[in-house]
Amino acid sequence: MTKQKIVVVGGGFGGVKAALELSEDDRFDITLVSDRECFEYHPTLYHTATGGLTAQSQIPLKTIFANKPVEIIIDKAVKLDRRGKVLTTEGGKTFPYDNIILALGVVTNYFGIKGLEEYSYGIKSIEDIEKFKAHIHQQLLDERKPDMHYVIVGGGPTGIELAAALPSYLHRIMKNHGIRARNVHVDLVEGAPRLMPRMPKSTSRAIQRRLRILGVKLHLGKPVQGANADGLSVGGKSIRSHTIVWTAGMANNPFFNENGFAFGPRGKVAVNVYLQADDNTYVIGDNANTPYSGMAQTAVYDGRFVAENLKRSLDGKDMKPYKPKKPIYVTPVGHGWASVLWGKVEIFGWFGWALREAADIKALSELQPMLKATKQWFTEFGEQEDCTVCSQALAKAK
Ligand SMILES: Cc1cc2nc3c(=O)[nH]c(=O)nc-3n(C[C@H](O)[C@H](O)[C@H](O)COP(=O)(O)OP(=O)(O)OC[C@H]3O[C@@H](n4cnc5c(N)ncnc54)[C@H](O)[C@@H]3O)c2cc1C
Repeated sequence: MTKQKIVVVGGGFGGVKAALELSEDDRFDITLVSDRECFEYHPTLYHTATGGLTAQSQIPLKTIFANKPVEIIIDKAVKLDRRGKVLTTEGGKTFPYDNIILALGVVTNYFGIKGLEEYSYGIKSIEDIEKFKAHIHQQLLDERKPDMHYVIVGGGPTGIELAAALPSYLHRIMKNHGIRARNVHVDLVEGAPRLMPRMPKSTSRAIQRRLRILGVKLHLGKPVQGANADGLSVGGKSIRSHTIVWTAGMANNPFFNENGFAFGPRGKVAVNVYLQADDNTYVIGDNANTPYSGMAQTAVYDGRFVAENLKRSLDGKDMKPYKPKKPIYVTPVGHGWASVLWGKVEIFGWFGWALREAADIKALSELQPMLKATKQWFTEFGEQEDCTVCSQALAKAK
């Protein structure tokens, strides 16, 4: 029997889930093309950025697909001939397919704000985090004094998580460097009048209160106008800083524009009820114009949905139409406290944190067997520093 050739592009939540589900059915011949060797678990990146283990936030694709009939290609997809059904990569390889699943995720968007790309850090990937941490520690090594202002831009979950974790991390590493804890400021800037502007006001209020308790200064309703080597210009005033972190903007992956896809609102790819951009092209996760696009839970759900429909087609059954699933919104705000919005129910505090821990195990178990997922979850309790001073302090404390 000739197998159906499936190419999956993107080794993130959606792509990995789709490939895993399809790999259970030997009627498919699956190739996964991704531009990085590891799957990145975004929800814990803020923790890795503030002293947690790198292993908490990434898993090699080879490990996830060990013993699975999936060919892994590390290369960047650049060109798609949808009529001829061939994908071409930056390395010049071509991949003919019967069906292709695209899950390339989003890229950082600076909205053309002057100086931001040059003078800000990000925490969207392990590489971003390495740069950010190297910068903070280098300051302590070179000048033996910390920045007085650490400015995070973006009052969504990523900005909030980082802002909440940063004050205690800065105090810890300053102590490692033998520097007296000074009055370091962590500022969080948001253009809308409140944090998490798309959430209920009660969620915003609870998170804002919690951040203030943790010593984070909030600048709300203050759009960013520009950045330079000495700081950020916000709402007509300037904040002096050498450490600006930009978490406020994402744009769809340029691959879609470069390959002539049609777009819906928010720059997401237009898809039908089967998440198809055309008969043989499926677009899922952050790339697709679905109501809850932009969440890991949605990407995993989409990956499973498309795999199921591809199996149904081979069985000669009608494909099922997509029913969007409302995600549970969980935002950790400092250790031991999280905000949860589950349908209409709001939960704050320690119980929210416990739910977040459970959500992490559940999400990890979608991508690997429960035993491995639990082992991965335990990496939360490890610490890691590349800075020589801090790694010696860590070794002493053990
Ligand atoms: C810091 C941060 C924290 C987050 N926290 C949460 C959270 O707590 N809960 C939640 O539900 N969601 C969270 N999200 C959102 C969530 O991570 C995304 O919704 C999810 O990753 C989307 O999955 P995806 O498969 O569409 O894309 P991704 O998981 O981003 O995967 C895309 C993959 O495609 C690869 N790729 C990109 N371009 C190419 C190319 N041209 N060729 C080949 N490969 C390519 C990328 O390297 C990546 O491996 C967070 C996001 C960030 C950035």
